[in-house]
Amino acid sequence: MKGVGVSPGISIGKAFVINSTKATLTGDLLQNPEEILAAAERFDDAVNLAVKEIESISKNITLNLTSDDLAILETQIEFLSDPQLREDVVNKINTHKKNANDAIVEVIADTVQIFENMEDEYMRARSADIQDIGNRILKHLNTNSQGLSLKFEPDTIIIAEDISPSDAITMDIKHVIGFVTRVGSKTSHAAIIAKSKGIPAIVGCGDDLNAVKNNDIVILDGVTGLLFINPDQQLIEEYSQKKSVYNERKSQLKQLKEVPSVTTDGTAIQLLANISVADDMDSVFDNGGEGVGLLRSEMLFMERDSFPTEDEQFEFYKQVALRSKNKPVIVRTIDIGGDKQLSYFNLPAEQNPFLGYRAIRICLNRTDLFITQLKAILRASAFGNLKIMLPMISGIQEVRDSKNIIEQAKQELLKDNIQFNNSIEVGIMIEIPSAAVTADILAKEVDFFSIGTNDLCQYTLAVDRMNEKISYLYDPFNPGVLRLINYVIGQAHQHKIHVAMCGEMAADPMATLLLLGMGLTEFSMSATAIPTIKNIIINNNLAAAKNILNKVMAMDSSQNIIAYLQEVTT
Ligand code: PEP
Ligand code: MG
Repeated sequence: MKGVGVSPGISIGKAFVINSTKATLTGDLLQNPEEILAAAERFDDAVNLAVKEIESISKNITLNLTSDDLAILETQIEFLSDPQLREDVVNKINTHKKNANDAIVEVIADTVQIFENMEDEYMRARSADIQDIGNRILKHLNTNSQGLSLKFEPDTIIIAEDISPSDAITMDIKHVIGFVTRVGSKTSHAAIIAKSKGIPAIVGCGDDLNAVKNNDIVILDGVTGLLFINPDQQLIEEYSQKKSVYNERKSQLKQLKEVPSVTTDGTAIQLLANISVADDMDSVFDNGGEGVGLLRSEMLFMERDSFPTEDEQFEFYKQVALRSKNKPVIVRTIDIGGDKQLSYFNLPAEQNPFLGYRAIRICLNRTDLFITQLKAILRASAFGNLKIMLPMISGIQEVRDSKNIIEQAKQELLKDNIQFNNSIEVGIMIEIPSAAVTADILAKEVDFFSIGTNDLCQYTLAVDRMNEKISYLYDPFNPGVLRLINYVIGQAHQHKIHVAMCGEMAADPMATLLLLGMGLTEFSMSATAIPTIKNIIINNNLAAAKNILNKVMAMDSSQNIIAYLQEVTT
């Protein structure tokens, strides 16, 4: 099977299939009284979470629910609270030793069947509602998105529809050696998370992945994107060998930790890390990172069931600041919406979530949330070299409005005599084409740019970064994308502001020399990618990089560009 290899490395282990909403039987029987008790508890937890979820949907005025909608939700809650449902499920668990998933799947299937056999057409149609309720319970049972923690055996390879950031945060990850997902592409969050944790991963396998069953033996090659299910002994040996070679090379590269990141002609290149949680700081320094170029603050918001208070946020940013050894830490204000939803902030479903109500657009609309976060970051700026970065900026008005709100947050802190760095730098992500082509205008307003190629590529090429069917079009080496990047870097230099790149392209070895040629001197990436990129930097010089840039910019297609870059980088 082949998907997109997004986090390098080779793993050989046992499949654990997470059926997010699909009603499938695992066939696993419970072994002892503890497991039976735990299964019943898991069912109760899942039902409670499902009820809570429906209640919060019902209360969400932004959804404009009709009385019919509310009646359906009310019926769903009634069904979930029906003692008969619990009795049937618990009976399967206790008497037939069925695991919680299978017990629910069977009870729901039986109930659906009863409704489907009814004479009355209206009642027959209710079978879809019952299935929907079943799926909702299973979602809470089988995914981690609500903080349920799944426990894994050693050498587990997770097979899932997708892995959300909160899944990965709350999952008991210590035994997980691989991720494989049905959907997604290089820049989906499952990929970013796997990379930051140094766990080999493949995304976008498509429907073929449905064939994988629990406990299948799996070989995962995160470089080529190849996945082997129940391979023979010869293949296992071949890949065990490849795995040792890969791991050996990885530990050699890690030796570069103390080596300064300087090209052979003496240009210092700053290598920073993208992080999501304070614990990631260890890996930053362990891999030779010189600070944090992107702290994705929304992760703090995703692993819980209500908005974090100013004090809770302050504690988090302060922890990161204290662990940063006074190196720069760029905190990006929340980038929720799009693919990053919060269970407790019921954003209405949208036709085009990536083009919709997200990131800075939410912050400028919900200034209460924005000010709370800004005050927390500002307070933490007294404990380290923090900077503020605004995501999804499309034009100058959003920058000016944001700066006014930052000023307001400062005034509130001054009034209360609270310490903060009054000259904290404020920068923006350049990830929307309109921002890139007006870099000359925006550069006058901010202290720094950080190029977010994940979104810049998606918006420039009109390619959904999550859609595996069109992932072949998702191409940072498209001349259109390269021209934008080159222009942004040039304008930043001209206006004497810092410019970094924090999208996944910064971690792509094939892009390193090209970006150096464009004049990029600040790269931010998953900490685990730093040694590989440093190895390229310390073995090359700027004149060669400029030469590569000139050749590439004269080419007419990404096919030619990629072929050429492959040739010069290997
Ligand atoms: C980007 O868009 O390149 C980026 C770094 O942000 P995110 O991946 O979180 O959207
Ligand atoms: Mg982005």
